[in-house]
Amino acid sequence: MQIGPYQLYSIETSEFALDGGAMFGIIPKPLWEKKAPADEQNRISMVTRSLLLVSDKHKIIVDTGNGTKWQEKFKDIYRIDLDNLNLEKSLAKYGYTTDDITDVYCTHLHFDHVGGNTQIVDGKLEPVFQKATYWVQKENWELANSPSEKDTGSFMSDDWSVLEENGMIQFVDGKESFLPGIENHLTYGHTTGLMHPIICDSSQKLIYMADLIPMAAHIPLPWVMAYDIQPVQTVKEKGEILPTIVDEEWFIFFEHDPVHQAATVHYDGKHYRLKEVVTISD
Ligand SMILES: [Zn+2]
Repeated sequence: MQIGPYQLYSIETSEFALDGGAMFGIIPKPLWEKKAPADEQNRISMVTRSLLLVSDKHKIIVDTGNGTKWQEKFKDIYRIDLDNLNLEKSLAKYGYTTDDITDVYCTHLHFDHVGGNTQIVDGKLEPVFQKATYWVQKENWELANSPSEKDTGSFMSDDWSVLEENGMIQFVDGKESFLPGIENHLTYGHTTGLMHPIICDSSQKLIYMADLIPMAAHIPLPWVMAYDIQPVQTVKEKGEILPTIVDEEWFIFFEHDPVHQAATVHYDGKHYRLKEVVTISD
């Protein structure tokens, strides 16, 4: 898919699994299980899916997945599997390496979104994208560095400490545009200052939903995650943006759907539903 100056590529960086109950909040299991079957530990299959944007001047990656810095215990809890899908392999599929990346767009600093920012080489933390600028929303940075008891387990400073030391982070304050052809949308229900890139030209728009609508099953308004810091706010924010997504036929990109890269959305007068599955890249 091409939008404006960018060729878009879907970059799957890992397979993993999270608790189905946590992923669907108040929705009863008999309903969500039809959309996302649970394993023997009640976990549902997910992926981390980054978006690569390539123009003459930029090679931007939006989020970087779980990364490789995992102890066996947590790899096991989250069923993190890098054998089939990983960053290097997915970039190589389109002829790119991590050194080609000019910009890393961090939607927010939860571990399954920025785990791939850094890696351990010879016992030392290193940036994965050596030549890149990492873009981070200031409000989310502040939360990540002093999280509440509820979300302390979602933030790991190893994902950004070495980037700060190396002066590789550029802070974004609000919705100002910092990359050409990319607008930013901000939400606060999932985490404070979650940044969504909207890639646009005169005829098409694609929004990277991140954890506002992580999987196709999360399109209906009340289907929100228990991980959200303000679930009522998430429902409100979905309700605010979905009418525009429907009316203007935007593409929505799913970061965690195990099957679908993207889709368009339909409103039947009562509920929002998946309209058509969209392939960003083969
Ligand atoms: Zn998150």
